[in-house]
Amino acid sequence: AEVILAHTIGCDRQELLKRIILQPETRLSPEQIFASRELAARRANGEPVAYLTGVKEFYGRCFSVDPAVLVPRPETELLVDLALGHARQIKDNHHPIFADFGTGSGCIAISLALELNDWQGLALDISPAALSIARRNALANKAEGLYFMLADFMCSPLMDKSLDLIVSNPPYISEAEYAELSLEVRNFEPKKALVPSVSQKHTSTSLPASGLEHAQAVIGQAERVLKPGGILLLEIGCSQGELLRCMLAGSPWREISIHKDLAGHDRALQATKKHD
Ligand code: GLN
Repeated sequence: AEVILAHTIGCDRQELLKRIILQPETRLSPEQIFASRELAARRANGEPVAYLTGVKEFYGRCFSVDPAVLVPRPETELLVDLALGHARQIKDNHHPIFADFGTGSGCIAISLALELNDWQGLALDISPAALSIARRNALANKAEGLYFMLADFMCSPLMDKSLDLIVSNPPYISEAEYAELSLEVRNFEPKKALVPSVSQKHTSTSLPASGLEHAQAVIGQAERVLKPGGILLLEIGCSQGELLRCMLAGSPWREISIHKDLAGHDRALQATKKHD
C-alpha cells in the first residue's frame, strides 16, 4: 500500500511516511484516490509491484520494466558480483569485451558497464521490445561503452574468440516447473524469458522444454566466441548445477564451479575456456 501511494503521489516511501507524520492534514486529490485504487486492484489481481510502478532496483540502481521484460531478481546480482570479481583481475588486456546473452531489461549488462570503465559491452536480445527498454535503461543510468544487438544467442553473429567474458541469465525453467509457478509470474511475466522455446523445426513431435536448452546453447556459443582463458558465467536453476558441470567436463573448459545464492541454492555456473 505504501509503495502504491508513494508512486501515485510521486515521491518515495520515506517521503510518504514523513508526510503522513508531519502533515497529517494532507488529503489526496480525487485523481490520486482513483489512480491508487486502480493500482491496488491490479495488485490484488496478482500483478507484480514492479509492473505497477514501472521500476525495479537492481545492484543499487533503478531500472525501468514493463511486461516485455523479466523483473530483475536479487539472485541475479550474484552473476554481477562474480563477473566483477573476475573482470577486476584482468590487468594486461587492453580492450576487454563482455557480452550479455538475453539482456532483457539490461540489468546485468548495464551494471557491469557502469562498474567496468575500461571494458566494452555487448547486450544481445531476440526481443525488440526488450532491447528498447534496455537501451532506455542504459541512457537513464548513463552507461557508456555498451552496444545493443537484436540477435538470437542460439546463433549469435559474433566473431570466433572475440570475447573475454560472457554472462547470461537465460530462460532455464522447464515446462513442468513453469506449471507450478505462482500466477503472479505466469500471468504477467514474459514466458519466453523464463522457459526455453524449443525449436520444432527438426522434429515432428514437440517435446516440452527441459529447461536446459538455452544454457546448452549459450555454452555452445561460448566455446566458439570466447577467447582462450575467457570466462563463462551462467545463471542456472537450483537443480541443474551437477548436470551442467558434467556436460562441461571433458570439453574445452577448466575451473568449472557452481556458486550458491544467498538462499543457499545452486545459482551460477562459472567456467574458464581452456587455451588451445
Ligand atoms: N538478463 C535479464 C535479467 O537477468 C533478463 C533475463 C531473461 O529474460 N531471462 O533479468
